[in-house]
Amino acid sequence: MENILQVFSGIFGLLIGSFLNALIYRLPREINIAYPGSACPQCNHLIKWYENIPLFSFIFLRGKCSACHSKISWQYPLIEFFTALFAFVISPHNLGVNELFNYFFYFGVFCAFLVHFIIDVKHQVLPDSINIYLGLLFFMVALFTRPWSHWLIGASFGFGFPLLVSWIFYQIRGQIGLGGGDIKLYGVLGIYLGPMGIMQNIFLSCFLGAIVGLILMLAKIIKRDNPIPFGPFILIVASVQIFFEQWFNQLLRYIA
Ligand SMILES: [Zn+2]
Repeated sequence: MENILQVFSGIFGLLIGSFLNALIYRLPREINIAYPGSACPQCNHLIKWYENIPLFSFIFLRGKCSACHSKISWQYPLIEFFTALFAFVISPHNLGVNELFNYFFYFGVFCAFLVHFIIDVKHQVLPDSINIYLGLLFFMVALFTRPWSHWLIGASFGFGFPLLVSWIFYQIRGQIGLGGGDIKLYGVLGIYLGPMGIMQNIFLSCFLGAIVGLILMLAKIIKRDNPIPFGPFILIVASVQIFFEQWFNQLLRYIA
């Protein structure tokens, strides 16, 4: 039973990975998700169903568009592969309600984080639609598993504190420090992580962002006033907090 579920979960992951590729391409360009069908970004050749099979099409097309032979980005098979791998690794052990609930929750969060991460790196934006989706997912889980004070104070703090800091920063320096998308992401994460968890995230993501920013500056990859997307740091810390919860808590106890 377990093996069958793993195989099904892996295939499900491949299909969803293919959908995530479409979201990553379409959301920042504000193209409708459902229509029109996928086309080559170079020559607008409409991609046929057999050219759209996750992972396999990339292999038999040898990474090239069948019409204009321009290269298809490695991002497509990689996203499909990692989404399938994640689904495979966390596949449910049985079809019990708890197992399935956990499975869809963690997989749903993974997909949103992945789409957010890539879009922020490429376009410096965290789409509202993904923040809303995450907010609903977290709220649904928090409503059943956490006291109301946890999600209410967590969300208020996650949204309010970075907003206040950026407002003060703006008053002093006349520059926008954190983007609106970052602040909204902190807010929705606060629903699930609660006040303590979101405080830890804010502290650690800023710390991580500062270190990476400094390294990129010293290595002369970016200049001093170059903004770097901040969402990835929030998402990396949140991934550790959510997917490696026990390990993260142990680490905190060890440090504190
Ligand atoms: Zn083409």
